[in-house]
Amino acid sequence: MAEDMLSFISVPQNGPLKRDAIERIQDFREIYPEFLKQSAQQQASRCSQCGIPFCQVHCPLSNNIPDWLKLTAEGRLEEAYRLSQATNTFPEICGRICPQDRLCEGSCVIEAGFQSVTIGTIEKFLTENAWKNGWVMPPSPSVEQEAHVGIIGAGPAGLAAAELLRQMGYRITIYDRYDRAGGLLIYGIPNFKLEKNVIERRVELLRRAGVQFRLNFEIGKDASLQDLRRNHDAVLIATGVYKSREADIEGSNLLGVIPAMTYLTASNKRGLGDRVPAYENGELNADGKKVVVIGGGDTAMDCLRTAIRQNAASVTCLYRRDRHTMPGSAREVLHAEEEGVEFIWLSLPQAFLGPGRANSVCAVKMRLGAIDSTGRPAPSEVPGSAFILKADMIIQALGFDPEDIPVLFSAPELKISSNRTIHIDPLTQMTNLPGVFAAGDIVRGASLVVWAIRDGREAAQGIHRYLQAKAEMNMAAE
Ligand code: FAD
Ligand code: SF4
Ligand code: SF4
Repeated sequence: MAEDMLSFISVPQNGPLKRDAIERIQDFREIYPEFLKQSAQQQASRCSQCGIPFCQVHCPLSNNIPDWLKLTAEGRLEEAYRLSQATNTFPEICGRICPQDRLCEGSCVIEAGFQSVTIGTIEKFLTENAWKNGWVMPPSPSVEQEAHVGIIGAGPAGLAAAELLRQMGYRITIYDRYDRAGGLLIYGIPNFKLEKNVIERRVELLRRAGVQFRLNFEIGKDASLQDLRRNHDAVLIATGVYKSREADIEGSNLLGVIPAMTYLTASNKRGLGDRVPAYENGELNADGKKVVVIGGGDTAMDCLRTAIRQNAASVTCLYRRDRHTMPGSAREVLHAEEEGVEFIWLSLPQAFLGPGRANSVCAVKMRLGAIDSTGRPAPSEVPGSAFILKADMIIQALGFDPEDIPVLFSAPELKISSNRTIHIDPLTQMTNLPGVFAAGDIVRGASLVVWAIRDGREAAQGIHRYLQAKAEMNMAAE
């Protein structure tokens, strides 16, 4: 049955009921069940069909949200799905892990006093429903092209570019140094936010469309950028950013002080059924330990919530600013608090104490002052406020920087920006090397999946224009 729109006055905001914290910390499964069809229709009908839809303006993919909400409310679910996937390569992934409170839903201008439309959950529902009904198909090009594109990195940027380019008929090979495709979707983000089969079935779709994956293949070790340029008509660099930032303080080298990605990768590999010796010998397993995580971004939240699920004795987050100025999503902090994480805001570690193996953190309290260059109040130390926190596992989640790609790829001529990300022309998406493009975190710095998808799609368009122009020039020369 079709629902009337603008029902936000009579229908309150309602998502699928989040699993109870006590129950959900017993496993790594996603914390939200799926919408039922009727609830999705009803919730979509709350949209007031704004003339200027701010939800769409603030979606990095400019998703046509009001239109697919209307189709959903009318029960026209296949059309709604087709419209939503026309602008988003992985709508079911964004529906799960976009920080909607800072993007589409945070900008929903439904009448004051009423809560936003649950856009992300409906987007996830539409695509999950499409999978169930067999509407999600591999790319099927109407013409095959001669040109062959090499993509370095099978994260969301590389996969989004591959899908679009394959649809245009190009031959695609994706190289990745990991043993599985998916990038941070597979080895960074934990299952309780995004279950792995969601990514695996997408990769399988690309394989079925003829995309070649060369896994365990590292550019810089197994081949150079120059090798790839010789073997392909265009190359896309989508390698993400992986160099962990670490607190440069006393005790950083002690045993038990661990980079966030090492910890999360071990946990994700375990979840996928791999043997992980450092987990099995306890080094990367929080079971029974007092865990302290340093940082206030999404990575820190994922480490905290993973440690809770590994049955840690206690899990504490130290962050130097307060909850209102932290980079992580407010929604994730709430989930972590419900699951038993303690946050000590406005605190900065000064040393990790040993000997040999870390047993505690020495930290000081901070206060916030005038706005600094990041646009947030600058933290400064409160004199005489040092305190000691017992810890036998300390996880550093302070963010990531790009690796030195020109050196790694033996391509010193590749131009990089002042923050060491790869420089591209924003109009063509091409680097300073002809036929070499770049997309995702390696261009914009550590960011979000939705931006990586957008970058990958734009890079695909850039590559297509470049290859078309090249083909026309070749024809003219013949
Ligand atoms: P990646 O996903 O990093 O993929 C890059 C790929 O390149 C990897 O597979 C890597 O193995 C490969 N590669 C690198 N170098 C080489 C080489 N030399 N040769 C071959 N292959 C190579 N974003 C959200 O929107 N929501 C979230 O909830 C969220 N949570 C996050 C949690 C964590 C723990 C982390 C670390 C990030 C999170 N993000 C989140 C950010 C998001 O995951 C990234 O912005 C996104 O994955 C970037 O995509 P990408 O394709 O640019 O790079
Ligand atoms: Fe919202 Fe992300 Fe979907 Fe855009 S892609 S509509 S920001 S959940
Ligand atoms: Fe609908 Fe909210 Fe978007 Fe307006 S801003 S079109 S109410 S979802």
